[in-house]
Formats: sequence, structure tokens, C-alpha cells
Amino acid sequence: MCMIYCPQCGKELQDDAAFCDRCGHKMGEPVGPSEGRWRGRYAARVERATRGPDYLDGVGFGVFLIAVAWVYLQYPWVGTELVAWFRTWVNGPTYLPVILVEPIFLFFIIMGGWGLAEGGLRMISGRISRGLGNIVGALGNFAIAYLIRGYGQGLIGASGLLPGFVIIIGASIVLSAILGSFAWSPRRD
Ligand SMILES: [Zn+2]
Repeated sequence: MCMIYCPQCGKELQDDAAFCDRCGHKMGEPVGPSEGRWRGRYAARVERATRGPDYLDGVGFGVFLIAVAWVYLQYPWVGTELVAWFRTWVNGPTYLPVILVEPIFLFFIIMGGWGLAEGGLRMISGRISRGLGNIVGALGNFAIAYLIRGYGQGLIGASGLLPGFVIIIGASIVLSAILGSFAWSPRRD
């Protein structure tokens, strides 16, 4: 038996279901404005369910591998330096060596650039909720890149790196939650 998805909350249902057993939506009826409260919570699933498969995550993994390879080509010593840094952690946490600043900056810039492209492509294809999530993630990547570069330039002290990182991650989570609470609905066509 094939599966269908609730157009309101995205739950997988038997194809002969008359009602959704999670949100109570009556199958075959349009999703009304009063049901919009579900969209924030399940917007990404609704988009997936109503707009078919999305291959951008696979592309994103490829871009991640390309970013790693590109950083290695630009800074062939980066692996040795990373291993040397991790070894110092045996004796307790140590600050990021300044020599690793530029390779890490480059990596986060590439990932941020891809995040913007991914978000833009998703929004063009009507996946507004996931697209906005990608763009928030991209801004977070750029913020981390410039935080680390600021550390390399002495603008941010070594003890400011971890709090800065935590603030950026926290702000990304809060921003995603705020964006997700709007009633972003997939295009109905
Ligand atoms: Zn439902």
C-alpha cells in the first residue's frame, strides 16, 4: 500500500485515510487559514510532502567535500597543524593557533556561500521554510568566519572566541525559531 502525506501537518498516512490521526485534517479538503498553526511546526515536512523529493542535501554534501579539498589545496599543512593542535588538548583546552585562522575562515566562507545558494534555490522552488533555514545557517557560517578572522587579527581575544561561537549558534537557533513560527505555506498549485 502506498503512503500519502497530510497536507496540513505532513504526517505519513495510509492512502485510504479519511482524516489525519495527528492533526485531524479532513483529507481532500483544502488547508484553511485556521489550520495555519500547524504550518510553522511542520512547514518543512509539508513542503517536502507536497513538493516532492529535494536533492539539495546531497549536493550540499558534495560541496562540503569540495570545500575540504579546496582548503587542503590552498593550505597543504592544515591537516598537520590541526592534529598538532588536537594533541595539545590532552593537557587541557588550548586556544586556536593563529596559523589555522585563514584555512578555517576559507572553509566557513565557502559553506556560507553554498548556504545562500541552497536557500535561494529552495525558495525559488517554493520551499520557503527550508530555504529561510539555509539562509540563516549561511549567515551563521559567515559570522563564524569573521569571528575567527577577527581573532586572527587580534580584534577578538582568545577568551572571546568560544563565547562568540556560542552567541552565533544561539542567535541562529532563535532566528530559525522566529522564522519557523510564521505561517509559511507551500505554494498550492
Ligand atoms: Zn495532519
